Amino acid sequence: MKIHAIQTGTVEVKKNQVAGKGSGAGRLVNVLFGKEWVERPVPIYAWVIEHEEGVIVVDTGETARTSEAGYFPRWHPYYNLAVRFQVKPEEEIGVQLKQMGIDSKDVTKVILTHMHTDHAGRLHDFPQSAIHVNMPEYRRAQGFRGQIDGYLLNRMPGWLSPQPIDFDRDSFGAFESSWNVTAKGDVKVVPTPGHTPAHVSVIVTLEDINYFLAGDTTYTEENLLRKIPDGVSPDPNQAVETMQNILSFARQRPTVYLPSHDPDSESRLKTKAVLVVE
Ligand SMILES: [Zn+2]
Repeated sequence: MKIHAIQTGTVEVKKNQVAGKGSGAGRLVNVLFGKEWVERPVPIYAWVIEHEEGVIVVDTGETARTSEAGYFPRWHPYYNLAVRFQVKPEEEIGVQLKQMGIDSKDVTKVILTHMHTDHAGRLHDFPQSAIHVNMPEYRRAQGFRGQIDGYLLNRMPGWLSPQPIDFDRDSFGAFESSWNVTAKGDVKVVPTPGHTPAHVSVIVTLEDINYFLAGDTTYTEENLLRKIPDGVSPDPNQAVETMQNILSFARQRPTVYLPSHDPDSESRLKTKAVLVVE
């Protein structure tokens, strides 16, 4: 088994998104109208697990179409004021997989940590794979309410018919439930609500190290250690509870923490730099 980090371009967001400020609805206002952007664009990572039972992709990254005029809803304050994507066509996941010698037919499963555009933007590359989504997340993305919350269901492929993530009562470390992705039990999904209420993470266990594909549970490892919720989580307390679970998990088992937008995720994967929790 091998895990690869696939960087599908970069994104710039406000500092108040990376580390939330204020309370209640004010947090989102601070994201939209915050003056300071991150110092440099942050990566958008997707993950590829070359597993003996088939290739598993975790998140699909973003599409180069984000630079087309009108790709995002023009009326949407977040897309107008608070985010800038840079994705070249050759950075899309399908192109990169081909270069690695992986055919999309070999991808048996795609697992989405959540359905935000920079995680679900290239589902189009996987028409033959089972797409697994936590169903409450899929429901949240529907309709006009979903659009207000920033989901772009209209940009998803027409064939999309996601398979559920079936959590059972099997606890895994600090997590009370989990879903076994492989028969071997070395790839599991755990609930990590916060950034979105039905957000999930994927844990890959390889040679006694747990690679925690964290999606947007936090934007950086530092913010996990400092338990700083981002500025867009609808329930910051829930986000902190999830961080506590991840930290407890990492206290019990060697864990490499890999959020989707941490500039250091790729190097931590390579050097197997485990999380050090006091
Ligand atoms: Zn997100």
